[in-house]
Amino acid sequence: MQFMANFKCNHTAHSVQEYFTTLGALGFSQEFLRENELVFFPQALSLQASKDFAPFGEIGVQNAYPAYSGAFTGEIGVQALESMGVRTILIGHSERRVLLNESQEFIAEKFAFFARLGFFIVYCVGEPLSVRKQGEKAVQEYLQAQFAGIDVESTRVSVAYEPIWAIGTGRSASVQEIAQTHAFLRTLVQNPLLYGGSVNASNAKEILSIPNVNGVLVGSASLDAKSFYAITQSVLA
Ligand code: PEP
Repeated sequence: MQFMANFKCNHTAHSVQEYFTTLGALGFSQEFLRENELVFFPQALSLQASKDFAPFGEIGVQNAYPAYSGAFTGEIGVQALESMGVRTILIGHSERRVLLNESQEFIAEKFAFFARLGFFIVYCVGEPLSVRKQGEKAVQEYLQAQFAGIDVESTRVSVAYEPIWAIGTGRSASVQEIAQTHAFLRTLVQNPLLYGGSVNASNAKEILSIPNVNGVLVGSASLDAKSFYAITQSVLA
């Protein structure tokens, strides 16, 4: 299973040290680390501290600009990522699609750029509530459109299904909704499929047992090391 933590705009260079120290003390067995994968997406200003203090797992960037370096004020280029050994990126998160107005065209450009460089891409798709209310068929059409210009075989890619209405709301999609939508996504891609949207220590075990769910992408419940650890351990319970 893949367990991914998206810290979003939370934590600092100092607090990630405490986070990874706590996680390290809780400890993962060699067997767990052999069979599962841990990926953390801290905010950019905590990337180096995370690289320095995470005793295990991969550190990825939540966003970057499709350029090596240059006149792109406020953006993060590949040169800086390379200097820290960061080779994993989250692309297509709904907060960037909606709040930052990232178009499918720009997302596809970014995806192709980082795929060419061989980055591990965690690609997010997900529908708003208005679409979910129209039923599964409408959801499928919406999600399919989010694969426009995306070649999921061009590099290592995991696809995260994150219904927007389930993100940060405390209301996860139901087992049936996840099962149906993941079955549909499986007809589109053979890549690992993650579910994201209000995953926590209480619902993780059930979600991870749904067919075609190969892991979880966790926001709120990943911010606390003990809570994220409990999610990872639910696969063993
Ligand atoms: C996310 O933003 O990727 C996410 C899944 O958030 P949350 O777990 O808080 O719903």
